[in-house]
Amino acid sequence: LLSLQGLTKHFGDLPVLHAIDLEIQQGTTTVVIGPSGSGKSTLLACINLLEIPTSGSIRLGERQLRFSPAGKPNPRAVQAFRRETGTVFQGNHLFPHMTALENVMVGPIAVRRMNRADAQAKAIALLEQVGLGAFRDRYPYQLSGGQQQRVGIARAMSMEPQILLFDEPTSALDPELVGEVLEVMRSLIRSGITLIVVTHELEFASRAADRVLFMDQGAILENGTPEAVFAHSRHERVRQFVSRLA
Ligand code: ATP
Ligand code: MG
Repeated sequence: LLSLQGLTKHFGDLPVLHAIDLEIQQGTTTVVIGPSGSGKSTLLACINLLEIPTSGSIRLGERQLRFSPAGKPNPRAVQAFRRETGTVFQGNHLFPHMTALENVMVGPIAVRRMNRADAQAKAIALLEQVGLGAFRDRYPYQLSGGQQQRVGIARAMSMEPQILLFDEPTSALDPELVGEVLEVMRSLIRSGITLIVVTHELEFASRAADRVLFMDQGAILENGTPEAVFAHSRHERVRQFVSRLA
């Protein structure tokens, strides 16, 4: 579904991603782990084109984009590409002046020109899917952190992305709220969507991931099954990192 070839990102003179090659199969879950500053968020940001890669190429489904330091990619192609990915970040980025329902309706109406009735029906179904059917008229401040994050997931799903990206979706939550968000993510996985998740929830990663990537200094040091990466890594760095998480 998704393929990165030689993807590089520099911030000014600072190289942050070094010629990343990666293949993601449709319907799989990939968990990304690694030390702070290793480039995990930048990798996701380059996949959804919040950051424009410096060089290399990305293919998502039928679309392919090449990047070069010499020129910027076509803005229309970038827009079209962005619509194929949905992103959920750490902390919540809901619109504070909109109810849960409105937060989930706004994307399809504004971007996909969906009519209001259809967008509303769809948003209600999505809120039910994340277990928040009864909370649709609440504003973000009237919801717990875990509930806000679940609205954020419904909002990302509302655009029907081909791939969903999660950047530490539970790390800003109180521990007792983490489980409900992970449960929603498991239900997405069962529904067959393709996910890439930056998380240090080892238990979740072991059970839910098809592949685990370990990033170190802007490169993918390891790409394997959870078993291979968590239990049998050849790399001392990986073993140490994992033993601190456990
Ligand atoms: P963490 O686990 O702390 O979230 P990370 O693996 O997500 O870390 P990134 O946020 O991708 O790491 O950052 C990788 C490197 O890129 C860091 O050295 C960071 O300082 C740098 N960096 C990230 N974003 C920018 C930016 N917009 N401008 C300049 N440097 C940046
Ligand atoms: Mg990060």
